[in-house]
Amino acid sequence: MTVSSKEDTIADLERELQAACGISVGDLASRIEEIGFQCQACGECCRGEDNSVAVFPFEVRRILEFCGKEWLEAVEPPQDGEWDRQGRFHTLEWRLKKEGGDCKFYCEQGCRIYPARPFICRTYPFYLAEGRLRFSQCRGLGKAISPQEAASMAVLLKDRYLTELKEALSLLRNFRDFERGPPAEGGECVVHDSEGEHRIFGRHLF
Ligand code: SF4
Repeated sequence: MTVSSKEDTIADLERELQAACGISVGDLASRIEEIGFQCQACGECCRGEDNSVAVFPFEVRRILEFCGKEWLEAVEPPQDGEWDRQGRFHTLEWRLKKEGGDCKFYCEQGCRIYPARPFICRTYPFYLAEGRLRFSQCRGLGKAISPQEAASMAVLLKDRYLTELKEALSLLRNFRDFERGPPAEGGECVVHDSEGEHRIFGRHLF
């Protein structure tokens, strides 16, 4: 990333954040009520290929506090990223770990970290992108939702969107670029997040 493209992206994000602050929670709640949603507790969003939950560092800490696990027992870097000339793999986020293709925290009875689950899980299937309400496929869509539940979802969605933009801005401001190199096996992994760089050697985080 060049210095000018980084500055341009930061400026775009700042504009998006400013616009996001003006989103009306009331309008959002009305739209959610029109669409309708009631969780069917089917667990489909927690299982299989499509389950991939990005988490911010503050969310990881909340989960660790709740379940008493270590950082790398709960989250991992995604597979997509780039290598530097020293063979280190660089990536830009953390995801909840998976086991047997499902979220590690899913069990037949539901979510084992329910009170500490991240924004994505709390607001599924809705999200905001470029200021617009969007939703993923979900069998709970179209089911009646009460005005109170729609209002709570709207508050959470706006909070999530503002947080995503602020986290992206912090990530970019902390990001130190590197010279790209060819793919390499088994090297160190560097995760860039809103708090800076985290290096993983084998199974340890530094
Ligand atoms: S954290 Fe909980 S709600 Fe989120 S995907 Fe995992 S099991 Fe499902």
